[in-house]
Amino acid sequence: MTTAPLTFDVQLSDHARSAEERERVLASPGFGQHFTDHMISVRWTARDGWHDARLKPYGPLVLDPATAVFHYAQEFFEGLKAYRQGNGSIVTFRPDANAARFNVTARRMAMPELPEETFVRSLELLVQTDRDWVPTTEGHTLYLRPFMIATQAALGVNHPSDEYLYLVIASPAGSYFTGGVKPVHVWLSQDYTRAAPGGTGFAKCGGNYAGAFVAQREAVENGCDQVVWLDAFEHRYVEEMGGMNIFFVYGDRLVTPPLTGTLLPGITRDSILKLAVDLGLEVTERPITTDEWREACESGAMTEAFACGTAAVITPIGRVSGRDGGWTVADGQPGELTLRLREELVGIQYGTRPDPHDWIHKI
Ligand code: PMP
Repeated sequence: MTTAPLTFDVQLSDHARSAEERERVLASPGFGQHFTDHMISVRWTARDGWHDARLKPYGPLVLDPATAVFHYAQEFFEGLKAYRQGNGSIVTFRPDANAARFNVTARRMAMPELPEETFVRSLELLVQTDRDWVPTTEGHTLYLRPFMIATQAALGVNHPSDEYLYLVIASPAGSYFTGGVKPVHVWLSQDYTRAAPGGTGFAKCGGNYAGAFVAQREAVENGCDQVVWLDAFEHRYVEEMGGMNIFFVYGDRLVTPPLTGTLLPGITRDSILKLAVDLGLEVTERPITTDEWREACESGAMTEAFACGTAAVITPIGRVSGRDGGWTVADGQPGELTLRLREELVGIQYGTRPDPHDWIHKI
């Protein structure tokens, strides 16, 4: 089995979109609807380990209907962005952290780990090749989606697949915030649970998201934007949102639920914890109940609440609803610290602020 760093075979597309077609897409990219001209593909087999590393034209996969991923959901993914900074350079944010989380998930899913340098190299190669797809419009990015699927064509359920495919695709993404930073109205999910101890809550596997759609639909049916997950046993402790972690602000104190194994260790969450310390704020990772959330809003002790993640960076939470009624967080408007932390983080990503933690990775 090879352990030497993989070299990628490069096959450029002979049907890449014209500059005009690309500009048309980039004028209004939406999110996850358009893809660049190339993709990364690397194979793993029990016999040869990782091999057959390629950059090739973006296109469909041909898979046997018995392929394991279709039946047992042996699949997981990552999500990060490439940013175009003011001086024209293209960067990613903490790709090593995504590489590490990719392998934490791989272990939980009984799937092969990918050497971190191959993960980072694959992103560099795809972004370098498709660099013209990195938007120049402020707030727009190129979203990168590395993922791994089980490709053995066999229905046996007693052992994991012995073949896998690692892929990376890239999609230009517009700003989440057209018309400013808008507070979200969240729904407490009391009937559905996302994760339990010993399960896959900390892993970024597709199954976690498949089981969440019904709760997200319930949230929307109740006039909310996003679902908030609670603990599996008492439905009292706040865990996280559909695709974001949660922070609570008490004056100059920040509180966020601890990483107990049932929530995703967000890279934005980790970055905010570090930035908050830099700003002289007190940060605490501790459990918080929905009762505490409501009472602290009613007494005025809680001054802000926000959600954070790669896609929308930092989003204020304006209102909370659940089966037993709802409440407003402070005046329901974006809070001062929420906006300050957002500015700091976005500033580092776009190169308008110093990068004291060395988070920026030049492509
Ligand atoms: N929780 C869940 C369930 C998510 O899908 C995401 C998005 N990856 C996050 C939190 C935030 O993680 P990150 O800051 O790494 O994007």
